[in-house]
Amino acid sequence: MTKNILVIPGDGIGAEVTTWGKAVLEQIAADFGHEFSYEEALMGHVAIEATGTPLPDETLEKAKRSDAILFGAVGHAKYDNDPTLKVRPEQGLLKIRKELGLYANLRPILLFDELLGASSLKPEILKGTDILFFRELTGDVYFGEKNRSEDRNTASDLMIYHRYEVERIARKAYEAARVRRKKLCSVDKANVLEASRLWREVVQEIAKEYPDVETEHMFIDNAAMQLVKNPGKFDVVLTANLFGDILTDEASQIAGSMGMLASASVGDGTGFFEPIHGSAHDIAGQNKANPLASILSAALMLEIAFGLKEEAKQVTDAVDKALKLGFRTSDIAGNGTDPSDILGTNEMGNKIV
Ligand code: ATP
Ligand code: MG
Repeated sequence: MTKNILVIPGDGIGAEVTTWGKAVLEQIAADFGHEFSYEEALMGHVAIEATGTPLPDETLEKAKRSDAILFGAVGHAKYDNDPTLKVRPEQGLLKIRKELGLYANLRPILLFDELLGASSLKPEILKGTDILFFRELTGDVYFGEKNRSEDRNTASDLMIYHRYEVERIARKAYEAARVRRKKLCSVDKANVLEASRLWREVVQEIAKEYPDVETEHMFIDNAAMQLVKNPGKFDVVLTANLFGDILTDEASQIAGSMGMLASASVGDGTGFFEPIHGSAHDIAGQNKANPLASILSAALMLEIAFGLKEEAKQVTDAVDKALKLGFRTSDIAGNGTDPSDILGTNEMGNKIV
């Protein structure tokens, strides 16, 4: 298989971790006889410094002609405390997502047995948890009309969904469920919200196209509770933008470290694969960052963008094996970890390769 991959390292630890996501892709290509070519492009603070804009045209052009994008992170401490800075790193990310038409954010919550102790939940509750979230990205209160009364004492945000938006993400979620454990839970608040009633109606219709997948509808309040009570019951979770925002953050905590979680944003064109963590300037340049989230993002790319399931499994198996052998980066090292097993970014990356 021949593919053109764009690497956008971005800021902070982004460059350190994408180096290893890419190295793993190179190794997979060599092992399986694929031809992956790579380009690199700037985004975020590094792009502002070099060109004055967080998303240079050249980056966008390269993105549009690539088959998949491996992204690190954007951000810089100097923007955090200075809201007057008008040109900001995150603008690059929002713009590229919009330009590429990415409407579904996928976040797998994959728990490695060896790290069950790192979660805030008890190991016996977590065991076997393997959830894939589909969060809708283009609709909901984020993009509906916003109003504030003249006296400033009344405010509203319109929750809006269109049938086509629900249809297209529902199909993606069902396709994924079909090659997993064939269970899909759609989360809404259809007892209260009209937008949720549309959501549920459309999901029920699409469900008929996938009779092999078991569908469940759950209210968001119940889903938030079930997620920490019995996470093992979920396979694919499909939900709207706002509910997905909240649920995926909740779910990231059951998985333990940010350094372990990958995500994908997909639409009809080029997909975007990135760790859920940010630029983490506190540890940048120190060979401390956990590269596994970027490596697992590369695995997601193999599976979702290229349909290379076996190759993706090879990557997650390698991560599992490194953890079983006791290797840890400092963010996932427990009290019992042998200090000589605590590795830096590059050493952990090398183990996986
Ligand atoms: P941004 O502003 O880009 O979101 P941030 O500084 O808020 O970046 P996050 O990535 O959100 O940083 O992470 C918060 C903290 O979690 C970091 O300060 C860091 O200590 C830790 N962390 C995040 N990612 C990793 C990683 N890959 N390996 C180790 N620690 C990490
Ligand atoms: Mg952050």
